[in-house]
Amino acid sequence: MSFTHDINKIRSDFPILSQQIYGRPLVYFDNAATTQKPAVVIDALADYYRTFNSNVHRGVHFLSNKASKAYEDVRIKVQKFINAEHSHEVVFTRGATEAINLVASSYGSKFVGKDDEIILSEIEHHSNIVPWQMLCERKNAIIRIIPVLDDGTLDFEAFLKLLNPKTKLVSIAHISNTLGTLIPVKKFIDAAHEKKIPVLVDGAQATSHTTIDVQALDCDFYCFSGHKMFAPMGIGVLYAKEARLNEMPPYQGGGEMISEVNFEKTTWNDLPFKFEAGTPNVGGTLALGKAIEYIQQIGLDFIAEREKQLLDYLTKRLKETGNITIIGNAPEKTSVVSFLIDKIHPYDAGTIIDRFGVAVRTGNHCTQPIMDRYKLPGTIRASLAFYNTEQEIDTLIDSIEKVKEMFY
Ligand code: PMP
Repeated sequence: MSFTHDINKIRSDFPILSQQIYGRPLVYFDNAATTQKPAVVIDALADYYRTFNSNVHRGVHFLSNKASKAYEDVRIKVQKFINAEHSHEVVFTRGATEAINLVASSYGSKFVGKDDEIILSEIEHHSNIVPWQMLCERKNAIIRIIPVLDDGTLDFEAFLKLLNPKTKLVSIAHISNTLGTLIPVKKFIDAAHEKKIPVLVDGAQATSHTTIDVQALDCDFYCFSGHKMFAPMGIGVLYAKEARLNEMPPYQGGGEMISEVNFEKTTWNDLPFKFEAGTPNVGGTLALGKAIEYIQQIGLDFIAEREKQLLDYLTKRLKETGNITIIGNAPEKTSVVSFLIDKIHPYDAGTIIDRFGVAVRTGNHCTQPIMDRYKLPGTIRASLAFYNTEQEIDTLIDSIEKVKEMFY
């Protein structure tokens, strides 16, 4: 591939990457937990607080109007980024977790009853398990699980057998944060829709790696977090089809989500405000807008191609090293690699790897069921972004050699 971007120039966009850790250059391979932020995003946040900090939608004064306009402009930016039909189908939340809780709580309170079923998969993050468990406990409903095959893909045939008249919703990840599997969600959505069952896609790991088109997917709900796509923490998105949002009751009560309040009766505001109670994270939203601009400037095609190169190089180097087990070998996989070094506990390995300045994550990655599926206490996970380099992968491999040296 001939690069259309200079990686060194890209790296200089991210101030944190030029740091030294333990006297070595920082190698940041924990992008599935949170991505780093380019200066333009940090500046957008600071600029809002420095020059037009003001509450939105509630003032006639200059600053409030400016903040409100900027906030609503980001909604349109998100709408275009995911190709939603309407901007009012974009609800700002604190993150993917809150978005899933919103649907579980609101949609669940109205449409899920005793003995009804919710389908999840074995690969899900705890954020796409626990809200449904809480709902099912309240309603005496049941969770059904799509099994994961040995290579880390979902068992589609088993999924088809799970669909039945009691199924009220399917909620699955777009990309696994632990195995990197890119799930062909469209296939699952189409099969569920044939039975008129709505589908939520947990896109927390997807928006920084692949183009999202919610109309092409035809998903009913799509959730993601800003901080996993170069924006700050505390801002995320729930996309939902207009018809779904209209039939759902509000999630939280408070300011902004109402039309009229008196002690006899309160009426709800229009979409999307019905679902945005209280003062929102205006600064974070504006910075999310900048992060989207940044991604678009780099280009998701470039990002996907560059990350595929890094994934191939990391996989090759790990295999050459020997005594490495890679967990998750799906044919469609993103730049997340979970692995084990022989029988060495991931925490022990991670501690030594850290001393090389390499940030990897060790543990169950908030996906305990998939660890149980593979009978593992945890893995070492290297999750790469387009700003990572082959040289950094070489440093990780050096640190793995050191781990082996110390434990053998
Ligand atoms: N789903 C997946 C697949 C994730 O990877 C994560 C974060 N690791 C979440 C949901 C939850 O995201 P957040 O903590 O930003 O709400």
